[in-house]
Amino acid sequence: MYSFFESVEKSFDKAAEFTKWDKGLLEQIKACNSVYSMKFPVKMDDGRIEVIEAYRVQHSQHKTPCKGGIRFSKEVNQDEVMALASLMTYKCAIVNVPFGGAKGGIKINPRNHSTYELEKITRRYTAELVKKNFIGPGIDVPAPDYGTGEREMSWIVDTYASLKPGEIDAAGCVTGKPITQGGVYGRKEATGLGVFFGVREVCNNEKAMAKLGLSKGIVGKRVVVQGLGNVGYHCAKFFREHGAIVIAIAEFEGAVYHEAGINEEELFKHRKATGSVKDFANSTYIASSSEALELDCDILIPAALENVIDGNNAPRIKAKIIGEAANGPLTPEADEIFIAKGTLVIPDMYLNAGGVTVSYFEWLKNLSHVRYGRLEKRFTESMNHHILTEIEALTGKQASIKARNLIEHGADEIDLVHSGLEETMISATQEIMDIWQQNPSIPDMRTAAYICAIDKVGISYTELGIFP
Ligand code: GLU
Repeated sequence: MYSFFESVEKSFDKAAEFTKWDKGLLEQIKACNSVYSMKFPVKMDDGRIEVIEAYRVQHSQHKTPCKGGIRFSKEVNQDEVMALASLMTYKCAIVNVPFGGAKGGIKINPRNHSTYELEKITRRYTAELVKKNFIGPGIDVPAPDYGTGEREMSWIVDTYASLKPGEIDAAGCVTGKPITQGGVYGRKEATGLGVFFGVREVCNNEKAMAKLGLSKGIVGKRVVVQGLGNVGYHCAKFFREHGAIVIAIAEFEGAVYHEAGINEEELFKHRKATGSVKDFANSTYIASSSEALELDCDILIPAALENVIDGNNAPRIKAKIIGEAANGPLTPEADEIFIAKGTLVIPDMYLNAGGVTVSYFEWLKNLSHVRYGRLEKRFTESMNHHILTEIEALTGKQASIKARNLIEHGADEIDLVHSGLEETMISATQEIMDIWQQNPSIPDMRTAAYICAIDKVGISYTELGIFP
């Protein structure tokens, strides 16, 4: 049984064999550069003082700033944060986002705290990061992760800005902020949409689908999603909207199944109102959430936490494709079983890179102090209008209203963000597929993804010239 960080190291070592890099450089790429472990007291609503345990790990500074989310969970520990920080480095490298990897964690169950307590914990954590120079638009830029969202990010930016008066780029100290606080349109759904784009691209690869005995494309594929948080919810939504059938959705209290498809939005509302997915209309309730992972389906999307599929349950998983929307949902033992079974595992560190990709767009927006589309939207619209009018005059034919609206439309921020994300996920998929399909001795897509990441980080280190 490996720890999470050891699992990441194991996958790294497996891929490193296929690269040309010096052993010492590989050790440096793998190592976590800085680990900040902290404890601080927070007075709770009932007057009690609680000592909070928290971390921020910067895995690599081969590119700066470092980047990665902050999670709130009772399971947070140093090994987990180190593993997640490492994955961030490789993730950013694969999708050509110029950041090093980092991750933060606060060991609390957010459900056990009031909003005011959470605010105090988040602000104090931020102040601790500022004190040690562990946060800043050019140093280390946190973001949401498991258990955190826009609200926590706005507390962070507010605390940072008030401790750094006059810092013109203060808004770029954290991403995943609400729009009103310097966020970007499209960040919320980014990870889920990125997962969808990635899986769709793999399903469009004829060779890969033929090997699995599946037809090309996403339409009609039967999907099981584990997790109805931000990532799982948006995955389910985009798969459904593009013609796949989400036959089951699992949460920790149980799962719901319906062969004709589950509507994630209605399920979300039901869960919010009743506190559980149980008793959802037109569906069968499965009391054991882990059993839902074993349902017969084409695509399984684990979108919650790490280590949910291991050597024990992997043999029972029937999905032909597993899309790792969460970070580290499969253990190395599970990987080996899926290689032997011929199951296609689309690895986390590239498949869920949509979040950090759009975080990069948000950070660029913060540094440029202008929203996307502000300069060119009207100009493009009037140019398109002139071109269309000229074509109509020359041909004597009129475009339909629908066509006219489509052609004349100038890009808004959301259009540009979605299109930048689509481009990023398509090129990353193709790059990894090429590495994998060109070398038959590479056992799985995860190894191909690691090779891609190691090569990119290796090149950066060489360019930095730190090894004279
Ligand atoms: N927490 C997300 C991840 O694991 C997003 C990180 C970010 O946007 O920096 O990729």
